[in-house]
Amino acid sequence: MPAPSGHPLILLNPGHNGEDASHPEIINQPIDAGFGRTKACETTGTSTNSGYPEHAFNWDVALRVRAIVQAHGVRVLMTRPNDTGVGPCANVRAQLGNRPDIAAQISIHADGADSSGHGFHVCEDSRQPAGAAIAAQSHLLTVALHQALLRGSGMTVSSYLGQDGYFPRDDLTGLNLAMRPATFLEIGNMRNAGDAALQTSAAGRQRIAAAVAAGILAYLAR
Ligand code: ZN
Repeated sequence: MPAPSGHPLILLNPGHNGEDASHPEIINQPIDAGFGRTKACETTGTSTNSGYPEHAFNWDVALRVRAIVQAHGVRVLMTRPNDTGVGPCANVRAQLGNRPDIAAQISIHADGADSSGHGFHVCEDSRQPAGAAIAAQSHLLTVALHQALLRGSGMTVSSYLGQDGYFPRDDLTGLNLAMRPATFLEIGNMRNAGDAALQTSAAGRQRIAAAVAAGILAYLAR
């Protein structure tokens, strides 16, 4: 894989945090969610039926992605330093990624839907919060991640949401407030047995992370 030139800087945003559930007084505080909307600071995320939490999955995948892209010369900012804290709120996470030198913001999540549904989907903002030029880049970033996940993650596109693995949204704070190219990944349904088998194994998470990293590197090398 070719290394992107100029050591670009990206933001990895592993969703939720390990102590969110213990601190509703913090994560339920209202924040500006963009487009005149108010939402809660954070949510706790989901888990597999056996109790493996989404925040741990997101964190572990983000660490693995970071290691791979750093080996290709990419610099990485993280929205949280560990998996044992609270927050930060979604608007603070977005602000961290709005430095003008950020090449891409990638939010890493997994879904918690009916157990019959499976597969990944990728979300971009259905509007243009940072204008048409940034929206076009966000779309390229989203497509690059979609293609890489389809090729390498071991998951299919979502069988239950969106269209062909694409699910444009207008209600995600991180996307609404993003002033840099941004995408939001839902890497499988944690309530589905097949997706959970990948998500709960280290080998599965490495495979997923390699796919995410490949998509990021493809975007940066375009
Ligand atoms: Zn989530």
